[in-house]
Amino acid sequence: MELTNTLTMKREQVIPHEPGVIRMYTCGPTVYHYAHIGNLRSYIMEDVLEKFLRYEGFRVDRVMNITDVGHLSSDADTGEDKMLAGAKREHKSVMEIARFYTDAFFADCEKLNIRRPDTVVPATSRIADFIQMVQTLLEKGYAYQAGGNVYFDTAKLNNYYVFGNQNREDLAVGVRDTVDADANKRSKTDFVLWFTKSKFEDQELKWESPWGLGYPGWHIECSAISVKELGEYLDIHCGGIDNAFPHHTNEIAQSEAYLGHPWCKYWFHVLHLNDARGKMSKSKGGILTVSTLEEKGYDPLAYRMFCLQSHYRKPLTFSYESLDNAANAYKRLIERVAALSEEGEPDLAAAQPFKEKFLAALGADLNTSLGLTVLYDLLKSDLTDATKRYLVGDFDQVLSLSLLEKAKAAAKPAGAEVPAELAAQIETLLAQRAEARKNRDWPAADAIRDQLAALHVVVKDTPQGVEWHLER
Ligand code: AMP
Ligand code: ZN
Repeated sequence: MELTNTLTMKREQVIPHEPGVIRMYTCGPTVYHYAHIGNLRSYIMEDVLEKFLRYEGFRVDRVMNITDVGHLSSDADTGEDKMLAGAKREHKSVMEIARFYTDAFFADCEKLNIRRPDTVVPATSRIADFIQMVQTLLEKGYAYQAGGNVYFDTAKLNNYYVFGNQNREDLAVGVRDTVDADANKRSKTDFVLWFTKSKFEDQELKWESPWGLGYPGWHIECSAISVKELGEYLDIHCGGIDNAFPHHTNEIAQSEAYLGHPWCKYWFHVLHLNDARGKMSKSKGGILTVSTLEEKGYDPLAYRMFCLQSHYRKPLTFSYESLDNAANAYKRLIERVAALSEEGEPDLAAAQPFKEKFLAALGADLNTSLGLTVLYDLLKSDLTDATKRYLVGDFDQVLSLSLLEKAKAAAKPAGAEVPAELAAQIETLLAQRAEARKNRDWPAADAIRDQLAALHVVVKDTPQGVEWHLER
């Protein structure tokens, strides 16, 4: 497939380092608050990318970190510690906050049909690796100690700023304008690898290190986790566009200085979801979450549909009016699928040209709206119902709109009583799911979720406990 590579600002054919295998890294959420639907736009589009690569036949190894330490509010080593601020706001410990919002994030992902990456790594679980990487950077002369902290020395690199054709001087001005100066930094663009002299008196999380008791800077976590889990050559690195600078620039600086060779070949950045006030952001407050949408009566998958209707490289403006349009389109789509007869066998030869069109659409820089057009075209075509159903299921491996499941439920008569035996079976599965979640046994919880989905059970986690009903 072709993707717009932010590193080169060109559309390029994706050719992995090892044939047939895509190693993909995703910057995970900073877990001091609920993810907003802007964050989730990025994760939905990354999920489509992963699923499309699998659909094309690649093996995809995907890793995501969870940022539970080190992320300050300015992204540039100044301002408040986000996790600490979250803990204070809720009168809890940082680890309690981290656990709660990590679980909340994956619950939202589940509702949006976002697959949980194979490997999910909280930053606080890898402190020894970060220390080892910082130590190597010091030994190689890419880092220095000042005022008790360890900094990356960006002057040692020939090419520091790699995204968006900006030169070093322009960048220094940008940094000076937005960030209070840290007198320890030799250059404005230098960044913290390890803090020992915390300006936060009440910093909760601290670890012993060769430079004293302290905690890691934000950027080091993604370099260290990625290199350890996915090796020295990364194929695709994902994130929202705000991560491109300084976070991803600094990841490249650290990783390449550490490895001594180019590191990640393709950078996939999703443009922002904006609302009337501009970029949606957790720190601004008043954010929209999946729960907000559910409370207003929207199916979370209508939001997924809304995201798929536009291209990931374009900013997307959220309004309830446009969400309503997407929700209506989604409902009509389900009705059309529900109207297809379930009789007969698909004609795979007749399906092939549509599969090719779908591959071409998504393969052209992940053009999801064109992919939806192919879906509408096939529904309009003179293919048999069985072939149409087959293609809907096939495309939905990538789109993940639960089209066949929702259609099946829509076709069932409403209001049917749940037989006692089925209800008992569901209750048992729900109890097992609760147990698996308590033990953080995600594969088991996922397997049970699939069993419940096969029984057409809609599960809702409410503050009063779990509620369920059968899909209608
Ligand atoms: P954070 O939890 O702030 O670390 O962000 C998690 C992910 O969401 C990162 O990949 C961000 O780049 C991305 N992100 C943040 N705000 C937005 C937005 N308004 N629209 C799309 N993606 C966003
Ligand atoms: Zn990252």
